[in-house]
Amino acid sequence: MNSEYRAWSRGCRPGVHSTGSGKVTEMSGILRAAVEGAGGDELSSMAMPESYRAAFVRRDDVGMFEGLDATDKDPRKSLHVGEVPLPELAPDEAYVAVMASAVNFNTVWTSIFEPVPTFGFLDRLGKESVWGARHALGYQVVGSDASGVVLRSGSLVRNWRPGDRVTIHCNYVDDQDPTAHDDSMLALNQRIWGFETNFGGLADVTVVRANQLMPKPAHLSWEEAAVNALCNSTAYRMLVSRNGAPVTQGDRVLVWGATGGLGSFAVQYVLNAGGIPIGVVSSPEKADLLRDLGVDAVIDRSAAGYRFWKDEHTQDESEWRRLGKDIRTLVGDDPDIVFEHPGRQTMGASVFVCKRAGTIVTCAATSGYMIEYDNRHLWMKLKTIKGSHFANYREAWDANRQVCEGKILPPLSSVFGLTDVGEAAYQVHHNLHEGKIGVLCLAPQEGLGIEDRELRERVGEDRITLFRRHDT
Ligand code: NAP
Repeated sequence: MNSEYRAWSRGCRPGVHSTGSGKVTEMSGILRAAVEGAGGDELSSMAMPESYRAAFVRRDDVGMFEGLDATDKDPRKSLHVGEVPLPELAPDEAYVAVMASAVNFNTVWTSIFEPVPTFGFLDRLGKESVWGARHALGYQVVGSDASGVVLRSGSLVRNWRPGDRVTIHCNYVDDQDPTAHDDSMLALNQRIWGFETNFGGLADVTVVRANQLMPKPAHLSWEEAAVNALCNSTAYRMLVSRNGAPVTQGDRVLVWGATGGLGSFAVQYVLNAGGIPIGVVSSPEKADLLRDLGVDAVIDRSAAGYRFWKDEHTQDESEWRRLGKDIRTLVGDDPDIVFEHPGRQTMGASVFVCKRAGTIVTCAATSGYMIEYDNRHLWMKLKTIKGSHFANYREAWDANRQVCEGKILPPLSSVFGLTDVGEAAYQVHHNLHEGKIGVLCLAPQEGLGIEDRELRERVGEDRITLFRRHDT
């Protein structure tokens, strides 16, 4: 047992955790050993548990919110925490003991069954292969981010072994599919782990393909390491990779939701590239946080009171113009790139304010996916709308390396226990959070898992914990 865990286990009951119903159960030997920092040989010699604790939605609950508006659909009612059976391991997969995970917006979508129930994805995967069939169950273990320790690797896994400390990205691809071999995000059956597959990361154990594994940043705690892969990799593809709209020095980049999950990584990439981010947020507190992150050009959209829509069907060009003027006042020019994800509410404005020949790069539509914009502003000014979705393994790896080297900071703002995952998802659903919400799974408390204290000191404790300190 290493000293960190020895210190923790004094004064608590190691190997014990709550199931969420207030019931306390014994943690299986191998999971306890992983928590205590056991090495690969010891982990390899121990039996895997037959079941594990996980956060899941139920197929039988799919109709439970029928007739309600999306905002009234409550993840606290549909997300359950309990024991589920451990699935068999395929030869190209690994079991990972999950120390911490994170809430992403896709867990909100799954838990409110919008825009479609995700069980359809599991059923399609179930028809693809014998191993795929494991996923089509009456429940779905959710979660698309995690940090943890490899417990077992299948016979086809070459680069990872028990005891390795990892983070997990969510691109789930079939390497026998020819369409996966240029850019794997172009694969016809590309999926997002924990959203379009089962056995996700909001659990004590997860099952992942070996090509989802990446090294854990050694200077971060488990929960700091767990909140990055999904949003960081997505922002990297959108603003760094040649597959997106790469920023060059001097570029002005309008970032919506600049202290949110995606936006907090996006502004860091713009700054690192020598660009000028214009960050949009919705409160003075978020504006302060953004300035502390190094962003000078900040727009508080609530204070500005933009009304891009006069009513449900009609947009107001004069309000787009007002935003454009505010941006020019702040940074002296129109944005070369617009980082889009709110969708229906903002797309008209995004297309309008983008610079002549600029790019609107979009990966989402939180406020509605039926988009309206004035096409004259797009074609007459030779602008481009570029679609983007998550990241291939190379992009996720390179984005993770930025975190490992301390060049991208984890925007962890608050931490919940797995049993409170419904509340955590509720907060993200209602935009009550900043940055990312971390979830402790096997890690018994915050702050564990840091190996490289020297790098942590060099990066700066204050910078690493910036979002956490703002939240408290
Ligand atoms: P998030 O943490 O909730 O942050 C989104 C931010 O957008 C909020 O903090 C909010 O900031 C801003 N926002 C929300 N509604 C808005 C509106 N109507 N107008 C202007 N700004 C608005 O979520 P996220 O993790 O960044 O994800 C955002 C979206 O991207 C979600 O729909 C998610 O599913 C999607 N996504 C897609 C991918 C992909 O690979 N395709 C990857 C990650 C996420 P303020 O209130 O401060 O302005």
